[in-house]
Amino acid sequence: MISMRAVDKHFGKLHVLRDINLEVPRGQVVIVLGPSGSGKSTLCRTINRLETVDSGTIAIDGTDLPAEGRALARLRTEVGMVFQQFNLFAHKSILENVMLAPVKVRGIDKKKARTEALALLDRVGIANQADKYPAQLSGGQQQRVAIARALAMNPKVMLFDEPTSALDPEMVNEVLEVMVGLAKEGMTMLVVTHEMGFARRAGERVLFMADGQIVEDSDPETFFTAPNSDRAKDFLGKIL
Ligand code: ATP
Ligand code: MG
Repeated sequence: MISMRAVDKHFGKLHVLRDINLEVPRGQVVIVLGPSGSGKSTLCRTINRLETVDSGTIAIDGTDLPAEGRALARLRTEVGMVFQQFNLFAHKSILENVMLAPVKVRGIDKKKARTEALALLDRVGIANQADKYPAQLSGGQQQRVAIARALAMNPKVMLFDEPTSALDPEMVNEVLEVMVGLAKEGMTMLVVTHEMGFARRAGERVLFMADGQIVEDSDPETFFTAPNSDRAKDFLGKIL
């Protein structure tokens, strides 16, 4: 579903992604771990072309991501992304936030978009907040809206970049529950997270990154109990 071949990227002299080769099959839930600055966010951002790459190819569902133009806009809709910051439109209601892109980008009529948006809000447990504005919601609720908004584009892949890192502790679980639900429904997911409970529970595969490379690629149980590299042992020693 996601296929990266020999992907390299620099920011100036900094080599942030080094020869990334990654095949993620449909429905797999991949956890991405690694120290700060190791390239986790950049990896996510290249997958939906928020960042360009220097060389290599990235394909979603067999189609190479083009660099620009309409084809890029269309393919980008196939990859939903949820960030640490919710980035909701402050002056639009919750319902409008979820309806906006389907109407504008997918060209769906408003009535249908509204019905779909309400169903998605129900799925993330906040249908009763549809007419409120983002500032009236808790962080956990806002992040669930952000997930619903990404799902409204009917993506083939969902990327999550530390979706719970900006939340108060008591709100983390309500967001993780939504993600566990998505995983169970078979969504292909790449999740950068420090939530080790979630990683063990929902993750099927762990990628450990260091210095722009995928240093380990294993199942969660192996990674957490018997990591190979010193970098991973050191990392786990600090977070567990
Ligand atoms: P964190 O855990 O702190 O979020 P990360 O693993 O997500 O880290 P990235 O954000 O991918 O790391 O950054 C990888 C490296 O690239 C870092 O050294 C970072 O400073 C650098 N970097 C990221 N974005 C840019 C940019 N737009 N311009 C220049 N350097 C950047
Ligand atoms: Mg990051």
